[in-house]
Amino acid sequence: MSGLVECPSCGRLVSREASACPSCGQPIRRSGCRILDEALGAFLGCAGTLFSLLVIAFVIAFLFGGC
Ligand SMILES: [Zn+2]
Repeated sequence: MSGLVECPSCGRLVSREASACPSCGQPIRRSGCRILDEALGAFLGCAGTLFSLLVIAFVIAFLFGGC
């Protein structure tokens, strides 16, 4: 698979299979559920950035749309 994640420390693109960033050694964080993570990765593909934006939009809507 071609899943890449962005290193939270240096921003370098790192393989999802890697346990740590080869550039700075930052451990690569995955979502809590491995099956969900793989399903999302397969489904989203290059739309990962869009998904992140949707999550941010959801959080903003939740913060400002609550009763
Ligand atoms: Zn890094």
